[in-house]
Amino acid sequence: MEELMPCPICHEDCAFIETEGNWCVYVQCGHCGTHTAFHSFDSDESKKRAEENVVHLWNMGKVIAEARTE
Ligand SMILES: [Zn+2]
Repeated sequence: MEELMPCPICHEDCAFIETEGNWCVYVQCGHCGTHTAFHSFDSDESKKRAEENVVHLWNMGKVIAEARTE
């Protein structure tokens, strides 16, 4: 699997793959909350594919920035 790049928004190197309720995965930044779209899965094999997809999205900078009020 590809390595996760630092966050494209805040540039912190603290991104991780999150699994949501055993049906979808996404990559999220532990610093600013920016995340990718969710990719659903229904088996161990499709979970692996979903993880690869979200890592790729993240590394391409295709992310959804959390609106912050600072
Ligand atoms: Zn970030």
